[in-house]
Amino acid sequence: MENCIGRFAPTPSGRMHLGNVFAAMLAWLSVRSKGGSMVLRMEDLDTQRTKTEYADVLRDDLLWLGLDWDVETAPQSQRSHVYDRYFRLLEEKGLLYPCYCTRSQLHNVNAPHLSDGTYVYPGTCRSLTAEKKAAFTRAPAWRVTVPQRKWQVEDLVQGHYEEDLATDCGDFVVRRADGVYVYQLAVTVDDGEAGVTEVVRGMDLLSSAPRQMYLQSLFGFHHPQYAHVPMLLAPDGRRLSKRDGDLDMGALRARMTPEQLLGYLAHAAGLLPHPEAVSAKELATGFSWQNVRKDDVCISADMLQA
Ligand code: GLU
Repeated sequence: MENCIGRFAPTPSGRMHLGNVFAAMLAWLSVRSKGGSMVLRMEDLDTQRTKTEYADVLRDDLLWLGLDWDVETAPQSQRSHVYDRYFRLLEEKGLLYPCYCTRSQLHNVNAPHLSDGTYVYPGTCRSLTAEKKAAFTRAPAWRVTVPQRKWQVEDLVQGHYEEDLATDCGDFVVRRADGVYVYQLAVTVDDGEAGVTEVVRGMDLLSSAPRQMYLQSLFGFHHPQYAHVPMLLAPDGRRLSKRDGDLDMGALRARMTPEQLLGYLAHAAGLLPHPEAVSAKELATGFSWQNVRKDDVCISADMLQA
């Protein structure tokens, strides 16, 4: 059997919250239960929001939990020369075009709205003439054209999911007008180059998988196995975010042991009948995706207030 390689791909824009830890725990358990290895990569493309101090704390928090890794690859902020190469590959294939649409033009588009807040791009700039392009004074973003075909995800948690990028997404941006590469391109290149075979992350990224599978096929990478895990919700049904300071790792570490926290999350995932204290290593023995619940998890008010 091919060796399993998983990854942690956190964004160092603040302290991890309970939901980030939940996904990280499941990523680690899946890989370690198969004797595979873990890669850590800091996703710091957004240099305005990310800080190296957050990355340091993040590593410390993962290790405190017993969620270790074998290698850390270069952070995304240092890899734009690598992304340039893949961008040129798309250019050589004739799949890129400049897009001059403004944010407000994109938002006024009378098109379906995807769950991640983006719109189906109607192809406005796909066939601009050279003259029209020359008339713009601002720098363009770059979009990749998508074919009409279905991309099927057989997700370890969510089951079958499919999208036809042409109708469900449209041509999507791979490089922004300010020259920064977007998440979809960077994550595909990084996972592909690191040989990642298994991608475990929050359910909110399920609709990114077809875009990434398309780029993987263009770049010559294998498709990894996907597992999109449930989101953790506050008792009022809100998704937890880094703004829920009472549930970030700073607050959690002050009031729980790593074993208590893992036991709580393993119970929430469906892996334990009761939230009893347990180590990451103990949980890895006998881990199976079949036991992981698929629906979002409401976390108890006592956890929020404790
Ligand atoms: N960097 C993303 C996050 O922190 C995760 C991206 C991924 O797992 O593909 O939410």
